[in-house]
Amino acid sequence: MNAKTILSGLMFCILIGLSGCETKGQTSQKVMKSNEEWKKVLTPEQYYVTREGGTELAFSGEYNHFYKEGGYVCVNCGNLLFSSVSKFDSGSGWPSYYEPANTKSIDLNKDRSLGMLIEEVICKKCEAHLGHVFNDGPEPTGLRYCINSVALVFEESYKK
Ligand code: FE
Repeated sequence: MNAKTILSGLMFCILIGLSGCETKGQTSQKVMKSNEEWKKVLTPEQYYVTREGGTELAFSGEYNHFYKEGGYVCVNCGNLLFSSVSKFDSGSGWPSYYEPANTKSIDLNKDRSLGMLIEEVICKKCEAHLGHVFNDGPEPTGLRYCINSVALVFEESYKK
């Protein structure tokens, strides 16, 4: 590989906004376990929601009406997902946020399982199912990330 090839490869990465390079870096940080391994470290309800795409009963989760200052990390891998700064009471029965904590927090998947197209929210690091996102949220984003409490762990040490 000559210097020109390396330079053009580098330029390509810069031109596509580093997304290709970044994906490579993030893949190595992913937390991947087999279903059997996840079952060993999760409660049955945590497993059902985060690994099987389940949903906890509305108004049943511990973070539905919970407004302490701090962060919410993934119950599966500890990745920081949401901050109390963006949490609001949507009245839906599930903890709701208008944005994720940062660009490394979540990914979105198209979900047609409920008979309509909605976007599934997953943890970017371990692909845990977290909930769904809707476009009827408050300002400044207009988004409502509707998340299962059981997929989250509150961490008071995270201050924005
Ligand atoms: Fe995770």
